[in-house]
Amino acid sequence: MRVVILGLLIAFIAGCAAVSTPSITGGREPQQVTEDSETAIENSFMALMNQTSDGERSRAVAQYLDRQRDFYYIAHGMMNTFDNELNLLHQRKESGTELTAEDFQKFNQISFQMRIAREFSERNLHEMLGIYELALIHANDPQATDHRASLWIVTNVSDWLQKSARTGDRSAVISLAEHLEDVNRAQREKFAEKKMKPIRIPSFEKHYRVSKDVLSAAYEQSLKFAKERKKTLFDSFIGQKWSEFEKNRLAQAADEMMQWNDATRSPQALDELYPDSGGKGHVTGNRFPKNTWAITLDDGPHPTHTPGMFKVLTDAKMTGTFFWLTKSIKSYPKLVAQAGTLGFNRGSHSYTHANLPKLNQAGLNHEINDAADGFKEAVGADFTLFRCPYGSCGPMGSKIRQMIADRKALHIAWNVDTLDWQDKNPQSIYERAKKQMDVRGNGIVLFHDIHSQSVEALRLLTGYIQKKGYSVRALPDIIGDVREKSFSSP
Ligand SMILES: [Zn+2]
Repeated sequence: MRVVILGLLIAFIAGCAAVSTPSITGGREPQQVTEDSETAIENSFMALMNQTSDGERSRAVAQYLDRQRDFYYIAHGMMNTFDNELNLLHQRKESGTELTAEDFQKFNQISFQMRIAREFSERNLHEMLGIYELALIHANDPQATDHRASLWIVTNVSDWLQKSARTGDRSAVISLAEHLEDVNRAQREKFAEKKMKPIRIPSFEKHYRVSKDVLSAAYEQSLKFAKERKKTLFDSFIGQKWSEFEKNRLAQAADEMMQWNDATRSPQALDELYPDSGGKGHVTGNRFPKNTWAITLDDGPHPTHTPGMFKVLTDAKMTGTFFWLTKSIKSYPKLVAQAGTLGFNRGSHSYTHANLPKLNQAGLNHEINDAADGFKEAVGADFTLFRCPYGSCGPMGSKIRQMIADRKALHIAWNVDTLDWQDKNPQSIYERAKKQMDVRGNGIVLFHDIHSQSVEALRLLTGYIQKKGYSVRALPDIIGDVREKSFSSP
């Protein structure tokens, strides 16, 4: 068993090094492909189903699910390590201790580690949900060649979740179950729309609809789990990435990522912020004026949670910038228009949320240029703000960053990560956001407008922002101030 785990970790790390999701197709060198994220998932599903018997198909999927879940545990553990460190730093700050450069160095390091873990985990989760969705579709289609294997998979996921909760990171499993239930819900709605009865759509509610006490206990168990977790090859991989990053940092002074809040640094220091494939075209918010914040929301529009976010922000008299997928923009044009009427800014987050560094030129054209056409059609203007899916646009100067600059857009990163896609608990999302804001002092907060817990967490956060007197402003306005030259975005 240990050998298998080690093998998986090595496969995982090899995948990381190539900046790609560990692929179920095994050791093959990842090719640059014209794949939007849906095609990539369909290909993965076909590879899993390409077995000689139903028994083998089911086994392949079971192994796949175990592996994806284990990656999710690692990322969840990283999130908990991050929370532990953040709490220590925040306590020191609250007790009146002046935070030192060393503190920020440490904070940047754990932020960076978490960012790597999140990037890979988010991609793995995305693929896993896509695979489950396909299994669910095929299980409900008697004509599908893999109908029986799919039915078996769908029927057994509930037991698998139960077993995972018993033996693994409970809070991670709760979160996973809710993600999977989102897929069930969407399929149920599709069948209802067509007025058809599905063959089998399970419910995972019992795995995540738990009392507040159980949720808190699971969160505590998870924190302990992170502290006591044995260090793995993944940790040394991250350590190595960090030292590479440190080395590159010297050569890339323009990259804002490493620049912590420093009151002596004037906000005008980056007055040359403009569309560019290097650091000048990359905004993290670290150089914003003191106590000045932009709120950003990714991955929508979503029929219920995007309006929820509109309401939270409007109620609090705050504004935000939505980074949306063109495929969803096409589904919900009314929400796109409504955002404009309400005065929210809209930016692009690609066409389908594909992992851009994995794509060839044709794929990039679709995710950036076709995305721009669809955006313009719905919004009535070109985007000037772009955010790569998973924050992953390759290094400074990359082709992807050049394509974004060619569209006259800035790349917008963030310096406060709420992890609201991974954490289902609004309270801990809120705590994670507010503590990072206190410690950072200025910047860009990242939320998602496709999850219910995010809406609730942002509601809590707006109350805190008001209490602290932090200033939330429109992202293009802050950028205009920083560079001392106006900047606009639809
Ligand atoms: Zn995203």
